[in-house]
Amino acid sequence: MADIEKHSTTEGECAICHSENIEWGDSGMVDMNYYFEFSCQDCGAQNTEWHELKFVEVVGHGETEDNNYKKPEFKVTDKASARDMGIEYQLWASEQNLSYGELIEWTEYLTKIAKRYGLLKEFREEGII
Ligand SMILES: [Zn+2]
Repeated sequence: MADIEKHSTTEGECAICHSENIEWGDSGMVDMNYYFEFSCQDCGAQNTEWHELKFVEVVGHGETEDNNYKKPEFKVTDKASARDMGIEYQLWASEQNLSYGELIEWTEYLTKIAKRYGLLKEFREEGII
């Protein structure tokens, strides 16, 4: 008996005799193709059904970080303490994941302080606001 090889484009049927009376075996991946092996219960042929893998999407799952957002409290009484506050804020903010809204809130607040104590230019140069 000579080996024969036939190809079928119908899923789940024997490529030799087109029987759907099959028994699934191993499956796995080769390169970017997935295969399912099955043996035909009618003619005894061994078949390998090939599926091409197609990229669909990436789904990410993760633990959400605890929200450690806590507004630092600053005591601003003069120009020097206002300047300290700017520096402290900058250090603090660099360790936070401030949302856009929070950033705007802080920038508005710091701008007020900076205006009051004549630090607007300085704060802007330092990148604080
Ligand atoms: Zn068959």
